[in-house]
Amino acid sequence: MQPIVIPRERHSLSRSRIRPEALRILYRLRNAGYTAYLCGGCVRDLLLNRTPKDFDLVTNARPEEIRRLFHNCRIIGRRFQLCHILFGRNEFIEVATFRSLTDAPEVLHAGRRLKAAVARLPAGLIVRDNVFGTPEEDALRRDFTVNALFYDISSLAILDYVNGMADLEARILRCIGDPRRRYVEDPVRMIRAIRHAAVLDFAMEPETRAAITDCRNYLAYSSPARLFDELLKLLSCGALERAYAELKATGLIEVLFPTLSEWLSTQSIEGDRRIAEAARWLDAALRDGRSLSPALQLALFFGPLHETEAERLLQTGQVPSRVSALLSSVHLHFARLRSRVLVPKSLISETAHLMAIMARLLRAPPASPSSLCFRPLFPAALEYAAFHARQTGEGEAEVNAWALFHSDDRPAPTPHPKKRRRRFVPRPQPAAAPTAESEWNPPLAAQPAADGPSL
Ligand code: ATP
Ligand code: MG
Repeated sequence: MQPIVIPRERHSLSRSRIRPEALRILYRLRNAGYTAYLCGGCVRDLLLNRTPKDFDLVTNARPEEIRRLFHNCRIIGRRFQLCHILFGRNEFIEVATFRSLTDAPEVLHAGRRLKAAVARLPAGLIVRDNVFGTPEEDALRRDFTVNALFYDISSLAILDYVNGMADLEARILRCIGDPRRRYVEDPVRMIRAIRHAAVLDFAMEPETRAAITDCRNYLAYSSPARLFDELLKLLSCGALERAYAELKATGLIEVLFPTLSEWLSTQSIEGDRRIAEAARWLDAALRDGRSLSPALQLALFFGPLHETEAERLLQTGQVPSRVSALLSSVHLHFARLRSRVLVPKSLISETAHLMAIMARLLRAPPASPSSLCFRPLFPAALEYAAFHARQTGEGEAEVNAWALFHSDDRPAPTPHPKKRRRRFVPRPQPAAAPTAESEWNPPLAAQPAADGPSL
């Protein structure tokens, strides 16, 4: 199939908005005779005049061919190999070879037969002709029409195999192909649909949306580690309030966050309102360009649930104090959620400690500068406490008092005194006749200080 070609004069994607490193890679691939396109979310975002999160490239060059062109190229992945072209400090641009439809998840997960067949082939042979495909196949295996546009560096045109440009102009998020089949293939696409529609402020095409409700239970087959990544993306997408409303409206929340959905069903409308407010607060903070730690994001979003659960533990006498009640409620909740969304242990413990410090901040104003102020989690706990005080009207005076200790120029915590290593001091040697070498190496006292001015 031939793509719809939108020439440069009929679209708004300008080269000046493409990251220079990505542009250089595109040109080097093109000059070496390969096809090279900008693809995925960055084309969509540039056409919408948004700043892309990352720049992804796709080409007909095979990974080894790409490596021959770029000395700073690292090949990753086993079955489908991708190239990372490294630059700067730990930064890279991902370059993929066009993928075929046989590499689609339903084929990959078709069962042991395929895996066994793949395993029988000599190493290195399998992949090549099976997984690499044409630009058209590559476009068709993507998730939504607006995510499948290519920007061709040779002609500066947009190549559209899926009618994505029309959807982009109409601000519609539409699955490529039959939404039910696409969600069953990879249920994570349902969360992606909700996140992309919320972030872009697009309407979901009716079938794309209805199929989420029909297929939501398939999400239970997705890997809990991958769902944790999706949770982090949702929390930091900047449109969490809208996404939260859609998770509820489609019923996906029942499968993605069963614990939260259960909790909501036991609460009055107030519980839901508090979560929505937390979501709005997170969105506003991101809009202001603030970077929030995942622990603070998790604490805020699940805060109302953790707080009521802590209250219950306290009331039923299962724990001696509010601080330990909060610690327990966070650990218990994420342990229950584990089979669906796997939050790493270190992050659970950080979130629990943040809540515990927050409870101490709300309990009493500081009598004097306290060691609490120097805890790494203090600023995040103070943010939470301020949000809590604003929502409930409790602890405002305490939060204001603690806030006096939080400023960017507060004194740095005193470092723990380091154990001093004993320096090796050579024993005095019997005086020897000066050698040529010792004349070139005068005694230390006579040398300039190593860290002194080097003029
Ligand atoms: P973001 O702005 O969040 O990075 P994105 O659309 O670029 O959005 P990525 O996760 O970076 O999302 O993926 C890049 C591209 O890969 C997508 O635009 C889409 O074309 C394709 N893609 C990603 N995940 C899937 C999936 N689960 N199924 C099909 N295609 C996918
Ligand atoms: Mg992206």
